[in-house]
Amino acid sequence: MTDSISLPAHHWPALEPGWVWLCGAGPGDPGLLTLHALNALRQADVIVYDALVDERILDWAPTAEKIYAGKRGGKPSAKQRDISLRLVELAQAGRRVLRLKGGDPFVFGRGGEEAQTLVQHGVRVRIIPGISAGIGGLAYAGIPVTHRDVNQSVTFVTGHDQSGATPSSLDWAAISRGSQVIVIYMGIKHASAIADALLAAGRAVDEPVAVVAGATTPSQKVLETRLDRMAEDIEHTKLEPPAIICIGRAALMRQVLDWQGQLAGEAPRDLDPLGRGRPAEQG
Ligand code: SAH
Repeated sequence: MTDSISLPAHHWPALEPGWVWLCGAGPGDPGLLTLHALNALRQADVIVYDALVDERILDWAPTAEKIYAGKRGGKPSAKQRDISLRLVELAQAGRRVLRLKGGDPFVFGRGGEEAQTLVQHGVRVRIIPGISAGIGGLAYAGIPVTHRDVNQSVTFVTGHDQSGATPSSLDWAAISRGSQVIVIYMGIKHASAIADALLAAGRAVDEPVAVVAGATTPSQKVLETRLDRMAEDIEHTKLEPPAIICIGRAALMRQVLDWQGQLAGEAPRDLDPLGRGRPAEQG
């Protein structure tokens, strides 16, 4: 246990031996961790972490053993079931286990499956939500995932299924009809198929699109494009995963809300990108 990080006074839960805390680490920026996550980092004696967890966060638990359970540097990814069983073993050995996953553990992160396996093996768990890339990552690009003038709903979609293909079970026509804003995880490798499916379902060719790669990290890159050009632009700009795709007029808000650009001295490009013609909060 390390005392290197102090937490505000509160009745923080204790990470007991034999327990696994399944915790979201947020999309990258260590400042986006929750206080519960920090409390977990302070107490864990072993941390099992994924590829998308920022290394700087692990540095906040200097004495914990760190076990890497993701895919990186071309190494094959650890099998999901092996990871879950490793967690069971560690817990049964009486360790204080922190399972740290990128974003939110229950959003396209297989946290549900891992937690279920743990419970099935009699291991006690606590779930610590995190900021998901599809919300927090877009916010770092100046894109509000909902906006009264744009959408009353938002759909989060995974761009590929367990086999790595675009999920065939997705009803793109229904998604297209039902949601003004579509946020796609794990989508850039399949951008072309996704754009084709949405265009076939009737979305406009000039529908605004933003792609945010490495969101909230020092290497964050944002591509602004439109639906019919999204795939080729992703290729030309050589955007690499992890990236979030946001399809819909919410993406236009970046023209006024690119707060990181503004921090770097840029002026807002358009104070009224949705063309309201009246103050933002006037009905
Ligand atoms: N549980 C995670 C998602 C895991 S799936 C969450 O809630 O955010 C992995 C996908 O998440 C990536 O392919 C990418 O689409 C998205 N993602 C995760 N971190 C990201 C980041 N820093 N920038 C952009 N996309 C990110």
